[in-house]
Amino acid sequence: EVVLQASDLEAGYTPGVPILRGANVVVHAGEIVTVLGPNGAGKSTLIKTIAGMLTVFSGKVTLLGKDITGIASHRMVAEGIGYVPQVNNVFAKLTVEENLEMGAYTRKTGIAERMEATYELFPDLARLRHLPAGKLSGGQRQMVAFGRALMVEPKLLMLDEPSAGLSPKLVGMVFENVQQVRDSGVTILMVEQNAKAGLMISDRGYVLAEGKEQIEDRADALLKNPEVGELYLGSRGGLL
Ligand code: ADP
Ligand code: MG
Ligand code: MG
Repeated sequence: EVVLQASDLEAGYTPGVPILRGANVVVHAGEIVTVLGPNGAGKSTLIKTIAGMLTVFSGKVTLLGKDITGIASHRMVAEGIGYVPQVNNVFAKLTVEENLEMGAYTRKTGIAERMEATYELFPDLARLRHLPAGKLSGGQRQMVAFGRALMVEPKLLMLDEPSAGLSPKLVGMVFENVQQVRDSGVTILMVEQNAKAGLMISDRGYVLAEGKEQIEDRADALLKNPEVGELYLGSRGGLL
C-alpha cells in the first residue's frame, strides 16, 4: 500500500526559483525510507514541502491516495502528516508531559490514551515525565520530539536528520527509537547525513542532488553502490 507519493514535485522559497526540480518519492506502508544527499541538495526542502510549508509550483503529493498538494501545514497535521524538523523544537522549560500535551493540540479526544501509548512505546519518557525537557540528554529530547509528533497518530512521520549533533552512542539510541516507532505501525520518511547508520535501519532510500532524486534503491543495495558515495560525498567507493 502506497502511503506517500510525491510526483514531479517543483517547489521553492521564492516564486520562479525552484529548489525541488521534479522530485519523485514513494513510501509504502510500514517502510523506513531514507533520503540522502549532499548539503544543499534539497532534502529539508523536500520534507518541508510535503509538510505544507512551501509553495508547490507544480507536481502532486498524495497521502493514502488523497491529493494533499498545497494544503497548509497546520491542516497537514490533521491529514496525518507528522514532521520533526532538523533542529527539534522541544520546549526546554516545559516538562516532558507538557511537551507531549503540546503535540496533541489538534486532538479533541483520546489524549490520555494516546499519552499512555506513547509512554508504553518509550518507557523512559514515562520515567522522566515531570522533568523539564531542558534537563534531558540530546537523545532523550529527540525521543520527546518523536513522542510529541506521535500524539496525533500520523500516517506518515517525517524526520529531518534525527541523529544530527549527537554522540555515536546516542545516534544508535535514536535509530533504535526510529525502528520502535516504525514497529508500532507508523510509516517513516527520514533525511539523514549519517548515511551508513541511517541505511542500516532503512528498507529503501533515495539519493537526492540538485532537487531531484538521482538514485532509488533498496537500502542494502545503496550501501554497496559506489555511485552513492560519489554523489553523496564526492568520494569513490561505497558506504560500507
Ligand atoms: P539540504 O537539507 O539538502 O541540505 P535544503 O533543502 O536545506 O538542503 O536547501 C536546498 C536549497 O534551498 C539550498 O540552496 C538553500 O540555500 C535553499 N534554501 C533553504 N532554505 C531556504 C530559505 N528559507 N529561503 C531560501 N532558500 C532556502
Ligand atoms: Mg543541510
Ligand atoms: Mg537539511
